[in-house]
Amino acid sequence: MVQVIKPYPDAWYCSKVCGSRCCKVADVWTLQGEELSYEFWKANYPRLGKSTCGCLDENGLCIVHDAHRPLICRIFPYFRFEDAVLASLSCKYVSEVILPSINSHIIRDSLFREVLEYIDCECSGDRVRQIEQRLRECKGLFLLIRGNRD
Ligand code: SF4
Ligand code: SF4
Repeated sequence: MVQVIKPYPDAWYCSKVCGSRCCKVADVWTLQGEELSYEFWKANYPRLGKSTCGCLDENGLCIVHDAHRPLICRIFPYFRFEDAVLASLSCKYVSEVILPSINSHIIRDSLFREVLEYIDCECSGDRVRQIEQRLRECKGLFLLIRGNRD
């Protein structure tokens, strides 16, 4: 029987297992023309010595509701890059849950399909291109995932 692996970590994993690592590095990209909530800007306006996103509450959960979060936060840890998916290896869920299971082609195809469906819903072609450009300049480590969409 093939194990079912969810592509995205849930809130419990992010807050309790990972400790909300990606919200503590102050590297949230925002894209040109992206509308963000006033709450987000008020909390995150760059300040000297600030490293944790101001929208993270004391339980390690994001206080900004889904549609108002920056796009990068909504799709992280996956990005569409040309005909592939890049998964950020700085994400604990990617390095500890996805990476060890991806050599099964059934899991890889299913993950590839689900992630692309989600990203295609969230991102216009223009946004995908803006993200690809940022990824070309990014020094982070990524897992390249290609699979069968059919
Ligand atoms: S907006 Fe929310 S998801 Fe994005 S970095 Fe801040 S706390 Fe994390
Ligand atoms: S780094 Fe990955 S596992 Fe950790 S909080 Fe971010 S999305 Fe969740």
